[in-house]
Amino acid sequence: MAAVTGTMRAAVVSAFGKPLDIRKVPIPQPGRGEVLVRIMASGVCHTDLHAADGDWPVKPTLPFIPGHEGAGIVAALGEGVASLKVGDAVGIAWLHDSCGRCEYCLTGWETLCERQHDTGYSVNGTFAEYAIGHESFVARLPPDCDFAALAPILCAGVTTYKGILETEARAGQWIAISGVGGLGHIAIQYAKAMGLYVVALDVAADKLQLARQVGADAAVQANDPQAAEQVIALTGGGAHGVLVTAVSTSAFSQALRMVRRKGTISLVGLPPGQFATPIFDVVLKRITLRGSIVGTRKDMAEAMEFAVKGKVHATLVHRRLEQINEVFAGLKAGKVDGRVVLDIARP
Ligand code: NAD
Ligand code: ZN
Ligand code: ZN
Repeated sequence: MAAVTGTMRAAVVSAFGKPLDIRKVPIPQPGRGEVLVRIMASGVCHTDLHAADGDWPVKPTLPFIPGHEGAGIVAALGEGVASLKVGDAVGIAWLHDSCGRCEYCLTGWETLCERQHDTGYSVNGTFAEYAIGHESFVARLPPDCDFAALAPILCAGVTTYKGILETEARAGQWIAISGVGGLGHIAIQYAKAMGLYVVALDVAADKLQLARQVGADAAVQANDPQAAEQVIALTGGGAHGVLVTAVSTSAFSQALRMVRRKGTISLVGLPPGQFATPIFDVVLKRITLRGSIVGTRKDMAEAMEFAVKGKVHATLVHRRLEQINEVFAGLKAGKVDGRVVLDIARP
């Protein structure tokens, strides 16, 4: 098997909170059980911005390449890889690999493995012409697929699909989706495809318009002082499930005010900080507060199936790798409508 060697273009974080450098770096070589993937398109998740800004308690080791929505083609195989061949279409997601042996891996909760590696965080990611994936963890994509269209499913799709399941809201019930960004606008479509009624909330009017366009039954301005009351009125007593994708701690407090008695709030957004939890309300209303982190490989296969069958469509904003710093500025300002996808293979 011919190795792919030489250099590649990549967006590199060298210091937290500073612009990324676009530079040539060596093409990585796949180790045992790994594959080298030629990245055709990579989505840009707000997590990449948190990573580059060093927002979270556990920080990546500098320098590193972010990106964890990388869709592309297997270009070379590491030793022992049997289930993939050069030319196969795959996706590299946040969960790069896990130990396979711990209690979480053994019970279908590999996303909780303490020995996992995370793409674009603890191992280099997909804002590059090539990236390494693990044979047992890459998402399998259909041959001749539209890479840009499927890239956002690798994080925004699987994370919201799983997050909705975690609310335990059933068809015919209401879900409130807070934050209509890259994650939220796809979440609305999964929720509709799953038979739920959706009320979407965001602070930006254009996001509420996008929410309605992609199928939300109602849209509420999150920064209206009466927003929670509006949701309670619309849903006849509060949403059965709430999915919080907003990058704002106030959205987490608001979720507690608009959830129905016995309802579940699935926390997905990761703004740095805390929010106050009113014990009395949580206890007396029997509210469940639940964190949700990406999705397992099984969740990924299910989430991908929805997209491949055309039941969910990311609204795409196409950009080039070289534009990553302006893309980050847009995300920070809440100015991206849908998901930015870097067309990395475009000359
Ligand atoms: P994004 O920037 O595309 O979208 C965030 C949206 O939140 C924007 O539309 C913004 O206007 C909206 N918003 C801001 N303040 C709000 C408020 N008070 N109420 C309602 N909406 C508000 O970001 P994204 O890529 O969709 O990611 C969202 C968050 O989810 C990030 O923190 C990211 O790190 C996190 N994330 C978590 C997981 C997970 O597995 N838990 C996976 C992916 C992303
Ligand atoms: Zn992500
Ligand atoms: Zn494990």
